[in-house]
Amino acid sequence: METTKPDLSAVPIWRCVNKECKAWVREELATSGSPECPICKGNMIRGIKHLPKLIKKHKAEPRKKEADQWLR
Ligand SMILES: [Zn+2]
Repeated sequence: METTKPDLSAVPIWRCVNKECKAWVREELATSGSPECPICKGNMIRGIKHLPKLIKKHKAEPRKKEADQWLR
């Protein structure tokens, strides 16, 4: 029974073009405009992945007004 759906958000990602390779990386974490697959060194293409929303950790970023919204 699914009573509660996880709160998913569409996240831009790069994913490997090789279907047998499941590597993907968040676009925001990609080191370049056209990253290569860390596993098979193949090309990566842009895509969208639906991921549960992350609770932002205040690691590198200073406090923002946005941060308050994440707590609600
Ligand atoms: Zn790959």
